[in-house]
Amino acid sequence: MVVKTPEQTSPPASVADALTAVNANIADAAAAAGRAAEDVALVAVSKTFPTDAIVPALEAGHRIFGENRVQESAEKWPALKTAYPDARLHLIGPLQTNKVAQAVALFDVIETVDRPKLARFLSREIAETGKSIDCFVQVNTGDEPQKAGISSTQVDDFVRACSEDYGLNISGLMCIPPVGDEPSLHFALLAKLAARNGLTNLSMGMSGDYETAVRFGATSVRVGTAIFGSRPPFKST
Ligand SMILES: *Cc1c(COP(=O)(O)O)cnc(C)c1O
Repeated sequence: MVVKTPEQTSPPASVADALTAVNANIADAAAAAGRAAEDVALVAVSKTFPTDAIVPALEAGHRIFGENRVQESAEKWPALKTAYPDARLHLIGPLQTNKVAQAVALFDVIETVDRPKLARFLSREIAETGKSIDCFVQVNTGDEPQKAGISSTQVDDFVRACSEDYGLNISGLMCIPPVGDEPSLHFALLAKLAARNGLTNLSMGMSGDYETAVRFGATSVRVGTAIFGSRPPFKST
């Protein structure tokens, strides 16, 4: 694993420069793994940042964003999506069933499908609204009790239920490795689980480990700090 020097991790001069740098790192990691850079989507995680901080990324041409809270997204994104209708928004945080209608209206991709009750509510809302939503199943690869996600031992059954029983469009798997663990073990496990279930998309890798994730097959990486700078600690989840 490459240890970064403080110079490399210091905040970039602008969001546009940061996007350029992260995209270049993704391209390098993809090339090193014999993959095409276009096969890796960069989800710019804008949680906790106000619209003023997000607009420069949109103006720089970036279009894929991630947010982890429905309420916060409802305050920020309707106006941004009006101004930039081709922006695509991913929900990357836990979703409560009482916010499913709001989430389906706001988001294009829901990365955190993690339990049957949520799958059922999503299925009903998607059917009623006719909106097309790509879903990822979130896997708790470290089996951490406090973390959301389906246990890796139950992924096969849950993916099948999501597709067959609930009719969800499951495009891939997502994970957040435990802090302090070697992330590559979790990335490799997620890749194996996806392959075994015939799923092609892997959402894995954050600011600290997205290059590793690309080497292990990530088709989307979720990067916040390396693009927008650090978040206030009290809002860090
Ligand atoms: C906040 C968050 C990220 C981005 O983390 P950074 O370390 O800031 O890049 C990625 N994925 C999820 C699920 C997050 O909540």
